[in-house]
Parts: sequence; structure tokens; C-alpha cells
Amino acid sequence: MASILIVDDSRTSRKILRTILEEAGHTVVGEAVNGDDGFKKCKELKPELVTLDITMPVLDGIEALQIIKTRYPEIKVIMVTAAGQNSKMVEAVKYGADDFIAKPFEAEQILSAIKKIFG
Ligand SMILES: [Mg+2]
Repeated sequence: MASILIVDDSRTSRKILRTILEEAGHTVVGEAVNGDDGFKKCKELKPELVTLDITMPVLDGIEALQIIKTRYPEIKVIMVTAAGQNSKMVEAVKYGADDFIAKPFEAEQILSAIKKIFG
């Protein structure tokens, strides 16, 4: 089971994601409200996995991904996408995103993405 940091500016999304992850036995070590907060909490909490929303204020998911993967290449990152973000997904692949999950969240998609990453 993985230690996970949830980075999303939507309180509702964070809550839904936390519930899905915890019910599956994963440990949510923290939540962050934008990319900058997420990067700082990576440093502080050293999660094995980060879920990174793409659309966020201050520092968006793509910018945060670049910083996190540069500073902490061992941390796995799953990007959270919404409809119409295909070009952002291409960018995210370029910067080392490990997988993608889509909003609205589906437990099965999220859990199988995590399983795929950690074997
Ligand atoms: Mg958002």
C-alpha cells in the first residue's frame, strides 16, 4: 500500500479521492491546495505517490510536476485530468507523469493505476 499526497484545489475532489484511497487501504499522508503547496509538502512528507490536479491556482499541475520530478525523481506522480485536457496530458508525459486519472473519479481506474505503478 502506498503513502499518498493529494494535490487539488477542489476540497470536494480531495475528499472523494481520500475516501477512495483510504477505503482501499492506502495511507493519505497529506493534502495540498495548489502546486506550490504540493511541492512544499513533498519535501516535508516524502510521499511515495502524489496525485496532481492539472488546473490549480498559483502553480498548476504541469508546473508542479516539472519541479517535483526534478527535485524528487523517486516520487511517482499521477495526474488528475478533466475533459478537454489532451494537450496538457502530452505535456505531462514529457515531464515524466507516471499515469493519469480522470475527473469525475472512478475508484477502479484510480486503484488500477496505482497497482500498475507499484506492481
Ligand atoms: Mg482544479
